[in-house]
Amino acid sequence: MVGAGVLGLAVAWQLLLRGHSVRLIDPGLDSPDPARSGSWAALGVLMADVFHRSSGRAWRLRQRSRVLWEGWLADLEASGHPVQRRRGLLLLADGPAELERQQRLVEQRQRAGIPLELWDPAELAALHPPVPHAAAGGLYAPRDGQLDPASLLTALWQEARTRGLDTSRDAVASLERSGRDWLVRCRGGTSHTAAWLVICAGVSSSALLEPLGHRLPLQPVLGQALELQLANAPEWNWPGTCVWRGFNLVPRPDRNGGARCWLGATLEPGEQASAQSLADLRGWAAAELPWLAAAEVVRHWQGLRCRPAGRPAPLLEQLEPGLLLVSGHYRNGVLLAPASAEWACQQIGAGR
Ligand SMILES: Cc1cc2nc3c(=O)[nH]c(=O)nc-3n(C[C@H](O)[C@H](O)[C@H](O)COP(=O)(O)OP(=O)(O)OC[C@H]3O[C@@H](n4cnc5c(N)ncnc54)[C@H](O)[C@@H]3O)c2cc1C
Repeated sequence: MVGAGVLGLAVAWQLLLRGHSVRLIDPGLDSPDPARSGSWAALGVLMADVFHRSSGRAWRLRQRSRVLWEGWLADLEASGHPVQRRRGLLLLADGPAELERQQRLVEQRQRAGIPLELWDPAELAALHPPVPHAAAGGLYAPRDGQLDPASLLTALWQEARTRGLDTSRDAVASLERSGRDWLVRCRGGTSHTAAWLVICAGVSSSALLEPLGHRLPLQPVLGQALELQLANAPEWNWPGTCVWRGFNLVPRPDRNGGARCWLGATLEPGEQASAQSLADLRGWAAAELPWLAAAEVVRHWQGLRCRPAGRPAPLLEQLEPGLLLVSGHYRNGVLLAPASAEWACQQIGAGR
């Protein structure tokens, strides 16, 4: 396994549960560079039921992940590694056209037995602290929600270690065929052989695979996010995370007496963070949510998403015998980790 983000850890854990021996190689392992990793920067928002499509691969992966998350979280908790999770997500509508689309989605989902609800402006007006006045209504998804990425990554790491995960704190420099196996050479001078190689190295996956003739352009899209401290802890009665005009507002009633929330994330093509994008995010939040205007920024972080160029996310591919790519999850790597790991395990199980 190359890469110890949420995808690498998820695949490793699931392979170990199925009796495979796994070595995970990453220069960061349990102490990654948050600015380079997508996973440690994520907000952990899970948007499965509110997804705008109702068929196709992306829909199936989201729904499969939603189901698997229930079991995964229960298993992690039972093993002594609980993950902080908040159920519920409210996707606010930007105007009448968006509200109509939401109405159609609710009808469609309810016919399929999926519990989505349409909230009207009166229901939004009862929320505290207030959501943006411009919201015309909203889609409430009780089964969607948010996971705390740090507690998730720690839980996966500890659980995989308990199950016998072998690790190497190094950066992979090259991949070569060696008979029926793979030879992995690392920058620190170590080398490893394996029958199967799973590449979960985020945006670095392209550079590792190109010498093998696999051209898979993956583009970095940087995201910045903020943890805000309110002067007084509000009596939060939101039904979970709120999503408004593409930004997530994640109440953190568990932090500092309930006076904290997360806000993000910016979408910045490339690897360089822009101070202007961050200022725009802060200014936007203050304009839309006046109660946030005086909030103090207590933490600012950034990370890289990995977007496949010209291909739908994610990239789950067996590139050649014994070589799997599990990457390119763009904005939904946390959500899609379980279905992606299941896919990888099926490939390896079938080829054993
Ligand atoms: C600000 C922000 C907010 C986000 N919010 C959400 C959200 O709310 N919900 C959601 O589902 N998703 C969210 N995402 C997306 C999600 O974080 C990513 O899709 C996911 O983390 C990708 O995980 P990964 O394991 O593929 O990659 P990464 O987490 O980037 O991990 C790749 C790993 O590969 C390692 N690596 C790289 N090169 C090498 C090498 N040569 N040798 C060995 N190891 C190597 C790196 O050190 C790193 O640890 C967000 C992303 C960002 C940036």
